[in-house]
Amino acid sequence: MPCFDFDLTSRDGKARTGRIRTPRGDIRTPAFMPVGTAATVKAMMPESVAATGADILLGNTYHLMLRPTAERIDRLGGLHRFMNWEKPILTDSGGFQVMSLTGLRKLTEEGVRFRSHIDGSRHMLSPERSMEIQRLLGSDIVMAFDECTPFPADEETARNSMELSMRWARRSREAFGDRSGHALFGIQQGGVYPGLRAASAEKLREIGFDGYAIGGLAVGEGQETMFGVLDYAPDMLPEDKPRYLMGVGKPDDIVGAVARGVDMMDCVLPSRSGRTGQVFTRRGVLNIKNARHQDDPRPIDETCTCPACRSYSRAYLHHVFRAQEIISSMLLTWHNLHYYQQLMSDIRAAIAEGRFADWQAGFHAERAEGDVARL
Ligand SMILES: [Zn+2]
Repeated sequence: MPCFDFDLTSRDGKARTGRIRTPRGDIRTPAFMPVGTAATVKAMMPESVAATGADILLGNTYHLMLRPTAERIDRLGGLHRFMNWEKPILTDSGGFQVMSLTGLRKLTEEGVRFRSHIDGSRHMLSPERSMEIQRLLGSDIVMAFDECTPFPADEETARNSMELSMRWARRSREAFGDRSGHALFGIQQGGVYPGLRAASAEKLREIGFDGYAIGGLAVGEGQETMFGVLDYAPDMLPEDKPRYLMGVGKPDDIVGAVARGVDMMDCVLPSRSGRTGQVFTRRGVLNIKNARHQDDPRPIDETCTCPACRSYSRAYLHHVFRAQEIISSMLLTWHNLHYYQQLMSDIRAAIAEGRFADWQAGFHAERAEGDVARL
């Protein structure tokens, strides 16, 4: 079986392009991963997700372990076959959602005991159990089990949490074992404290991973604080491995993260927003439910080649959103995912051609113009 590999192909400042090679196909970086929480990217057929240009999806361990369960997915041939997505899949460790979605939980050195938010049933997640679930799912990129340090956290709290995550990182590495063609990523913690981020990075390097994530961000700290951490945190991680910023983000978060050396990101924002009528364009965000669109025969974006923009007017999209028709979620999600993948493609081209700073200035200038004038 071919191995998991990462080649850096170009650099421009701290920004980089590269290619992650997996047995299920290559991932062009910087990459944006749409989120397929419950074995589906909501409102999208898998082939449509692929058509937007996505090379990889993210699946959620927490949701899948509860329903339909990892064991059932394994019996049915694994997550790729189950959800009809043959390209790579990254799964998170479940740690973040256990902490954010469950009310009753108990955290110990061993792991986290909790009750399902669906039916109250009792479960346990530990580094070993998380590795087992991600193996049963057949995930291509497995994430180490960690505790996402809450924000804000004082330095002592952040230190204790980070040190626990590093002990769990070692247990994750041991439980993962040697699985050719599959990768295990470690997760840097340490909150907003440079010394803790450095200690975490050193510990992760010592254990050795196939890639490194920057955890504990995009948890309500705001863009300025996040960029403050990203000014130094990615530089602490090995240069020759992919760097993954978890749970990010808005288009301008993505651009700022790439400028600081990040290679991979994921976020529910484009798909979730597609269901709430929020539309991303190169001229910023617009809300399709706004009355200004009801007589507008123009597409969302004249230059966008997605099905929503090619064949439908703002007036139609406004109407089906207002009427709560299912096609509204389908078309707006498709447009948003297409916009995000186009953004990544533009970013990769700009870096490869050594004009990322200019491209970035143009990106911000175009957004500052705002939506096209009302008819
Ligand atoms: Zn479009």
